[in-house]
Amino acid sequence: MHRVLFHYEPTSNWGKRILYLFHGIHHDFPNETDRLVMPSITSLAIASFIFAVHYLLLGPAGIPMFAGFLAGYLYYEFVHYSVHNSKKKIGWTEAQRKAHLKHHFQDATNRFGVTSPLWDYIFGTYKEKV
Ligand SMILES: [Zn+2]
Ligand SMILES: [Zn+2]
Repeated sequence: MHRVLFHYEPTSNWGKRILYLFHGIHHDFPNETDRLVMPSITSLAIASFIFAVHYLLLGPAGIPMFAGFLAGYLYYEFVHYSVHNSKKKIGWTEAQRKAHLKHHFQDATNRFGVTSPLWDYIFGTYKEKV
């Protein structure tokens, strides 16, 4: 989602504005804690939509699937927040901290994974800038 949606390059002015609000603002102000996570009202709207999709597609089985999705999202927010704000090194997130900071400060076209480099390895976006 980070690579395909947040780094999409829209041609319309409203598309550019929306993407700036969703992600560009985080790149312009990467250390502002107020901009690390979505505003609560936006998160609630998006979560409601995702819950509806889970429930419509899976019925009652969509509820635990949605809970798993939320747990994964909270883990992502934890890692992202600690990458930008923790002064302490947190063992298993240290490699991702270095990679994410390279995404911000060296090359925004690489290293999109925040919690894991898996998809960057698969799509060939985990590479040094040449
Ligand atoms: Zn970031
Ligand atoms: Zn980005």
